[in-house]
Amino acid sequence: MKTSNQDFRSQFSENDGEKLKSLFVDGLKDLYWAENHLVKALPKMSKAATSEDLKMAFESHLAETEKHVSRLEKIFEMIGERAQAKKCPAMEGLLQESDEIVASTDTRSFVRDCGLIMAAQKVEHYEIASYGTLRNIARILGHYDAAEILQTTLDEEGDADHKLTELAEAHINEEAAAE
Ligand code: ZN
Ligand code: FE
Ligand code: FE
Repeated sequence: MKTSNQDFRSQFSENDGEKLKSLFVDGLKDLYWAENHLVKALPKMSKAATSEDLKMAFESHLAETEKHVSRLEKIFEMIGERAQAKKCPAMEGLLQESDEIVASTDTRSFVRDCGLIMAAQKVEHYEIASYGTLRNIARILGHYDAAEILQTTLDEEGDADHKLTELAEAHINEEAAAE
């Protein structure tokens, strides 16, 4: 069925943005599940890593990820919603990929580190996409404080992603290629 822009506008005003608000809240719940599971996965990834600098990168992102969880709780509170997790099938799958990489590579190898970086960067990119969209939705809904908090986390996810690229390019890729 064809719907004109005029129809979209009248629909929006009738529902007062309630449908977008509910998409926003569902997105927050999805990320809340994802971040909580990442808190459990990062120590395993750090333990599995070979390079000291990669272990440290996972540990420092663990500390940040714990903050991401509490920031989401703060946002739920700010918008008057209960902090509730909704299973994120994407994060479940990405963390499963990480486990599979660990299972299929040698302990104390740089190939494993290379694989862990790939798995972790997929996770970061998923988070970057999610936080970027939710920040924009927060703005359009007038939740400017929430948008700022989402931006802070988005910046940290971006930094984590860049840090992983730096480690790969600094030495891990080359050492993996020499194995
Ligand atoms: Zn995060
Ligand atoms: Fe998800
Ligand atoms: Fe992250």
